[in-house]
Amino acid sequence: KQLHTGWKLQQSYLELRDLFHQQLTLKPIASPRLLLLNDAHARELGLDPEALRDEADVLAGNRMPEGAVPFAQAYAGHQFGNFTMLGDGRALMVGEQLTADGKLIDIQLKGSGPTPYSRGGDGRAALGPMLREYLISEAMHHLGIRTNRSLAVVKTGEDVYRETALPGAVLTRTASSHLRVGTFEFARRGGSYEDWEALAEYAVSRHLPEAAGSEDRYEQLLHAVVERQAELIASWQLVGFIHGVMNTDNMTISGETIDYGPCAFMNAYDPKTVFSSIDAGGRYAYQNQPYIAAWNLARLAESIMPLLADEDEPALEKAQQAIDSFRSHYEAAWQDGVRRKLGLHEAKAGDAALADELLGLMEQEKADFTNTFRTLSEGESPGDAFQGWMERWHARLADEGTSPEKAQTLMKQHNPAVIPRNHLVEEALRAAVQDDDMSSFHELLAALQDPYQAGKPARFCSPPDDEGGYRTFCGT
Ligand code: AMP
Ligand code: MG
Ligand code: MG
Repeated sequence: KQLHTGWKLQQSYLELRDLFHQQLTLKPIASPRLLLLNDAHARELGLDPEALRDEADVLAGNRMPEGAVPFAQAYAGHQFGNFTMLGDGRALMVGEQLTADGKLIDIQLKGSGPTPYSRGGDGRAALGPMLREYLISEAMHHLGIRTNRSLAVVKTGEDVYRETALPGAVLTRTASSHLRVGTFEFARRGGSYEDWEALAEYAVSRHLPEAAGSEDRYEQLLHAVVERQAELIASWQLVGFIHGVMNTDNMTISGETIDYGPCAFMNAYDPKTVFSSIDAGGRYAYQNQPYIAAWNLARLAESIMPLLADEDEPALEKAQQAIDSFRSHYEAAWQDGVRRKLGLHEAKAGDAALADELLGLMEQEKADFTNTFRTLSEGESPGDAFQGWMERWHARLADEGTSPEKAQTLMKQHNPAVIPRNHLVEEALRAAVQDDDMSSFHELLAALQDPYQAGKPARFCSPPDDEGGYRTFCGT
C-alpha cells in the first residue's frame, strides 16, 4: 500500500549534525478526517491521490510512510528586529520526496503536536488558519508567485484552545526546502566553522547545484538568494500581497514565500497598508517590504560572511556587494512586472515614473489596486481622475507601436481578475469551520486556480463595501 502511494522519501537534511534537528516521537490523534487533498500537486510529487486519500493517518502524523524519519528543524530568527532562538514548534518534517524530475521536495506536517522547540506552545493548529494557509498559498502559486505549496488538510477531531476552543487541524505543506535566513543565523550563533560550512554546502546542493564544487560557491549562493528574494518581493508588490510577518525565520533560502500567518491582500491602494494585529508600528507594511527584505538579507550575509574570506578581497566587501545588489534586482523585477501590467513590450526611460504616477492617482482616489489594473486591461477607464494619465499611457503605447489589443492581451496575463480578498476568505472559512460546509471554500479555491481568466462571478471580483479595521492574526 505504501509503495502504491508513491512515497520516495529521502533524508538529506538529517546528514547535517544533530545541532540542526531533533527527532520526534509521534503524537497520534484519535480520529483524523481528510478534509482537503490537492490532487494535482500530489501527482506533481509522484504521489497517487487515490492512495493518499486512504492515508489520513499519515497526513495527521499518526503513522509515518516508508522512509520517513519524523524530526523538527532548528533555526533562529529576528522577530520584529529582535534575535531569538527558535525551531519548528509545531511542524514535523517527514522527509524529502524525490520527484520524477529528480527534485527533493520537503514534506512537512504543520500542527501535529509539540516538539522540543515548542517553547510552551501546544504544537497544534486550528482549522481556520490551516485552511487559510492552504487557500492563500495555492492562490499565490496560481498567480505565478514562488511559494511553498499545500497538499492536504486533516481535521484532527480534537479541540485546540486559543481564546476559545477551536477545531484542530494538520496542514501538509511542501517546499523546495525549509532552509531560512534564520537557519544560517542559528548556525552562526550555535555552531562552529564546520557547521557554517556544512549548512552552506547543503544549501548549495539544494538550491544552487550548478555552483557545487566551484571555489566561490558560498558567495554565489548569497548572490542567488538576494536575487531570488528581490524577484519574490517584487512579485508580491505587483499583486498587493502583504506578508505581515517578514521575520528572518520566515524568509527562505529558496526564494519561495513561506509562513502564511497574518498575510492579506490589499484592496484600496495605500502603501501604508498593514493588516497584522501584532504589527502596531507598521514594520511590515506594504511599502516597507522591499526594505525589510534587504535588512533580512543583511542578516544572512553576516551569518555567511566568515565563509567568504579569501586573500584577494575582504569578506565584508563581498557581503556588502551582495546586499547592495538587492536594489537593482528589485527595481529591474518590479519595472519589468509593472511594464507587463501596463501592456508595454519594450523598456523605455520614464516607464517607472508613468507607473508611479498611476499609483499616486490610485492612492489619491482610494482605488482598488487589483481592479484598477484589470479595468485598464479590459480597455476601460478607471474613472475621470485617470484621464490625463490615460492619455500619456496611450501615447507611450503608441510610441512603441503597441496596439490596444496587443497591450490588453499582455495585461490580462499579468493583472489578475480575482485574488483571495479578505472578506471572501473570511466567509469561506466561517462556513467551513462553523457550519462544516466546504462549498464556499471550494468555489473560491476554484476561482483562484485560474486568476487571470475573465468571466468570474462578480462577487469574486468586487472589493468589500467597507473593510475598515480588518485585522489578521498569526500563530493560531
Ligand atoms: P511564526 O510566527 O509562525 O513564524 O512562528 C514563530 C515560531 O513560533 C516558530 O518557531 C513556530 O514553530 C512557533 N510556534 C507558532 N505557533 C506555535 C504553537 N502553537 N506551538 C508551538 N510553537 C509555535
Ligand atoms: Mg514561521
Ligand atoms: Mg506561522
